[in-house]
Amino acid sequence: MTATIIDGRAQAAALRATVAGGVAAFVAARGRTPGLAVVLVGEDPASSVYVRSKGRATREAGMVGFEHRLAADTTETVLLALVAQLNADPAVDGILVQLPLPAHIDTARVIEAIDPDKDVDGFHPVNAGRLATGLPGFVPCTPLGCLMLLRGVHSHLAGLEAVVVGRSNIVGKPMAQLVLAESCTVTVVHSRTRDARAHVRRADIVVAAVGIAGFIGGDWIKPGATVIDVGINRTDEGLVGDVDFASAAAIAGAITPVPGGVGPMTIACLIRNTYVSACRREGVAVEKGL
Ligand code: NDP
Repeated sequence: MTATIIDGRAQAAALRATVAGGVAAFVAARGRTPGLAVVLVGEDPASSVYVRSKGRATREAGMVGFEHRLAADTTETVLLALVAQLNADPAVDGILVQLPLPAHIDTARVIEAIDPDKDVDGFHPVNAGRLATGLPGFVPCTPLGCLMLLRGVHSHLAGLEAVVVGRSNIVGKPMAQLVLAESCTVTVVHSRTRDARAHVRRADIVVAAVGIAGFIGGDWIKPGATVIDVGINRTDEGLVGDVDFASAAAIAGAITPVPGGVGPMTIACLIRNTYVSACRREGVAVEKGL
């Protein structure tokens, strides 16, 4: 193996510690505690696990977690009323509605109902637009975490060839916007791309967000490239990424493992976004590096 393994757990712990320090100072200065409201509709087991770990991370950072667990048959009207109530609640700095929502609820409508300035998931179209136009807003947690990992490897990203594999609204598209804002030359590969391998092969930076186990083999990677693997795929061999780790690590310069790479950064960035929201709402300066 030649690649440096990017330690997402360590970087996430450092980020969470910085946020916790900021939260303590915020509480002392403002006399109130930043709060994150998490809404879960139904009992999807994976979503339940995510909601629990988000609540734990919120409390560990010294913030308040408000958990709203609603029955699977909750109507869209009731959910929208809860969102409106959270929008108006001064103790709530961040609102997260756990996806996926049950099929009878219009997900886009619910996301659009969240106050963009409390939208710590960064899924609201206003925040997507702010990201695309270079305005301050909230960036989705997973791509934000990927960017932080990239910055840990490269002091300068400008001019690098970045290839993002996947174009979902929650990972691929915002990721492409982030590396574009860093002045990378950006290619977005998707299911209709002709010869995905040829594009990836040119990349100094590869971000894989496809959802197919081992989709990107080591023979796709340019020697010395930085590989960020967002994929989380459950297989008989356990959790694996979208990149074939063993063959890619033999050729890449730096690579994230799965698990222990991007995953831990996602929750750390949610905590970060919530803290940043509280600071913005109170007019408090955010620590450098956050
Ligand atoms: P989506 O399914 O929404 O998007 C997958 C993307 O991959 C689509 O844009 C699709 O293209 C593209 N794609 C599918 N097949 C191919 C192919 N053969 N060649 C090229 N591109 C292809 O997934 P997400 O973006 O939500 O998630 C991606 C992965 O990241 C999943 O494994 C998910 O579990 C994981 N994930 C991990 C997170 C973390 O915290 N680590 C957080 C979020 C997601 P098209 O648009 O043309 O269909």
